[in-house]
Amino acid sequence: MQDAMTRRELLRCASIGAAGAALWNWSRPLTTLAGERTERKPNFVIVFCDDLGYGDLSCYGHPTIRTPNLNRMAAEGQRWTDFYVGASVCTPSRAALLTGRLPIRSGMCSDRRRVLFPDSAKGLPETEITLAEALKPQGYTTAAIGKWHLGHLPQYLPTNNGFDSYFGIPYSNDMDRVGGEGRQAFFDPKVEYWNVPLMRDDKIVERPANQNTITKRYTEEAVRFIQKSKNKPFFLYLAHNLPHVPLFTSDEFRNTSPRGLYGDVVEEIDAGVGRILATLKAEGLAENTYVVFTSDNGPWLSYDQHGGSAGLLREGKGSTYEGGMREPCIMWWPGTIKPAVIQDIGATMDLYTTMLKLAGAEVPTDRVVDGLDLRPVLFGKGASPRDTMFYYRGTRLYAVRKGSYKAHFTTRTGYGPDRPVKHDPPQLYHLGHDPSEKYDIAKDHPDIIAAMMKEVERHRRTLKPAPDQLAERLPAS
Ligand code: MG
Repeated sequence: MQDAMTRRELLRCASIGAAGAALWNWSRPLTTLAGERTERKPNFVIVFCDDLGYGDLSCYGHPTIRTPNLNRMAAEGQRWTDFYVGASVCTPSRAALLTGRLPIRSGMCSDRRRVLFPDSAKGLPETEITLAEALKPQGYTTAAIGKWHLGHLPQYLPTNNGFDSYFGIPYSNDMDRVGGEGRQAFFDPKVEYWNVPLMRDDKIVERPANQNTITKRYTEEAVRFIQKSKNKPFFLYLAHNLPHVPLFTSDEFRNTSPRGLYGDVVEEIDAGVGRILATLKAEGLAENTYVVFTSDNGPWLSYDQHGGSAGLLREGKGSTYEGGMREPCIMWWPGTIKPAVIQDIGATMDLYTTMLKLAGAEVPTDRVVDGLDLRPVLFGKGASPRDTMFYYRGTRLYAVRKGSYKAHFTTRTGYGPDRPVKHDPPQLYHLGHDPSEKYDIAKDHPDIIAAMMKEVERHRRTLKPAPDQLAERLPAS
């Protein structure tokens, strides 16, 4: 029986393509759907938005933002309903994606400053092993395009963190503010109000960056990188600066979306994804490229109509309610990924482990890596290994999810003036029955809370203190 099962599994595996077969035996040459044998390792593309909410794509239910390219990508691939980031704000979330580790382990989170700023003295510690650094020994060409936000000083830039090249704004597009009146500047944004640099590798090539054309130029840069790198395995990390406020869009998209400026911006990103997928197809790379589209954190709700939507999820950016940390996530790999809507739990940290496994690279064993291997889900062979998610605000654990249940130890709005509220016993929500976290069921389930507290104790035992990388400022000049 065991043998029969195994044969059947192997046949099914072969029918879903190269990486499926490779899951069983890495030393075996890869086989494409057409039966061609190839030694090529898969290419990886991550498109990472800034502050795009769970409800901001039409394939996630938005009624007036049109995202035909992402809708098609979702129909041809996997649309994940329960996909998380490692933190609810930019810097720690990006550290989690690129290191496969909760930011509490690398010091890339802080209770004094939530993200890095242009006067920050530090960045991602050199001891961290980024996804790009781990892929390099496997022969990968690597490019970072877009927002970095893991340190803007030379030693922290992408080109010192495993990326062969970098083109982008090294932090958020609302930093280096030099003009405009208060909040009104965000509601009628002008490029000259934000003196952000645009860098190529470690040199500033434009300042202020013309943000009107930034999304378009990032896309063009991504297309050129793919065309140029087609003969070697590559990893492209395209981290758009938008739709983080202030919102900017090129002439072609301005005043075109029924959702207004925010819609224009998201629809331009969608069109860019369409161009990238079309380029992969035109270059004959689509069937050997794993593409993931997601966002760094939830919508910035305090910016009114210039912020996005978390759909039916509660709260947004900065918060440990679902709206802060659950993101749209679409995975695409024609001929290999089994098209489906996935309701299992996944996280950006898992992309680290999954991509390293797909590349035949080592996942570091000298440290705790929080990422888990999602290959069984990609290949339609099994469930996600992830059933737990930890929600940190700065260095403090605010909530934990286990299966369908989520316990909040502390709650606070993302950016409101309210103080943190501690809950003992914790608030308990069933995210299946109550995805909007409205109905606290703690009093009915002391046993579930007890089991979750044990999970938290286990987690705490894996933590080692890491120096705060975000708090220190450069001396005033
Ligand atoms: Mg963000």
